[in-house]
Amino acid sequence: MALRYHYLMRVGIIGGGQLGKMLALQAKAMGFHVSILDPSPHAPAALIADTHILGSYHDIRKLREIVDACDITTYDLEEIDAQALAALEAEGHAIAPSPRILQIIQDKLTQKRYLAAKGIPVPRFREADVLDEATCEAFGFPLVQKLRRGGYDGRGVMVIEDARDLPRALQGPSLIEEKIAIHKELAVMVARNASGQIRCHPLVEMVFDPAANICDVVMAPALVEKHIAERAIQIASDAIQALEGVGIFGVEMFLAQDGRILLNEIAPRTHNSGHYTIEACITDQFEQHLRAIAGLPLGETDLLIPAVMVNLLGAPDAYGPPLILGMREAMDISGLSFHLYGKAETRPFRKMGHITIVDHDVHRAREKAQKARQIIQIISMSQAEKHKGAPA
Ligand code: ADP
Repeated sequence: MALRYHYLMRVGIIGGGQLGKMLALQAKAMGFHVSILDPSPHAPAALIADTHILGSYHDIRKLREIVDACDITTYDLEEIDAQALAALEAEGHAIAPSPRILQIIQDKLTQKRYLAAKGIPVPRFREADVLDEATCEAFGFPLVQKLRRGGYDGRGVMVIEDARDLPRALQGPSLIEEKIAIHKELAVMVARNASGQIRCHPLVEMVFDPAANICDVVMAPALVEKHIAERAIQIASDAIQALEGVGIFGVEMFLAQDGRILLNEIAPRTHNSGHYTIEACITDQFEQHLRAIAGLPLGETDLLIPAVMVNLLGAPDAYGPPLILGMREAMDISGLSFHLYGKAETRPFRKMGHITIVDHDVHRAREKAQKARQIIQIISMSQAEKHKGAPA
């Protein structure tokens, strides 16, 4: 990948959500010029970027506009017209991670097939567009159905315990996989640059909120034995090596109750489970991604201090312009950093921000995090009257 180096490197980000915003903040810190492509004038990254191209991720003209305007273009989400991007890459535009990888990852079945063929351990799976009883019986219950495309944050995933659950099956091209008896959900950020250098951040543990069906708390480091952490990091690193990816990747894995470590899915971008790196690691995930895509040496990934990250989600019944309750009180907790993404509207369980608590004792960090999440609430302006006192 031959990049033209400017005293001001021009970085393009397709998608202007919270990941794009935090990436743009870091790019600005490093002196780069930032353009984003996002359909919303209120996109969080628009608060930071030098240029905002208003448009769809599926509009080839807009995609062309951003790659034309930038030395290197990346993205903060998977739902992009990857074929159009691949055509732009073939014309010589620098896009990282490569649209070839995006095409593999966008389709969960293609992704699983690719990884399995490369010898990466994944749950047993098969293609199943129609979930009839015979197919599922033959595969074996309990199983998990996943739509091949478009799912995120647990949407597009359905647990099918037995034949009685089949009427609840999702409609659309799918795969089915064995339901894993999960001991822990693990994740690691893996970065690779064009020279093939690979660096992994520490292994983290993700705790899911079943009500919101969202990764709610991330603990760094994961509380697992050393050999498990080493093996998980090796699997994740092998997967990114197999993809020959350039950029940073969020790799999600299961530690099964029977001891197996299985790769669940890869995000070809910065990831929620890597937010803790901002406060807790020598190089955070955003800087690492920029280093990787700009052809620079990767940074050190050591954990300087344990950390717990908690997503700040919109209250279950809140819609509209957001209001933050409890910020003043929460910021009194030692080691707490507060991130609010600047989204114009809150919705039930929408990721509106996050907090990270660092503490030399990870258990104490966890306790403080629990306290903070009880204090902080993201409600809507219209609900404000119901709450007494001025919001912090
Ligand atoms: P998404 O892309 O929407 O995040 P995932 O594939 O990560 O979907 O699945 C969401 C959650 O569903 C996982 O974090 C995990 O808790 C559960 N899950 C997914 N696959 C399996 C499986 N094979 N066995 C058991 N639980 C699973």
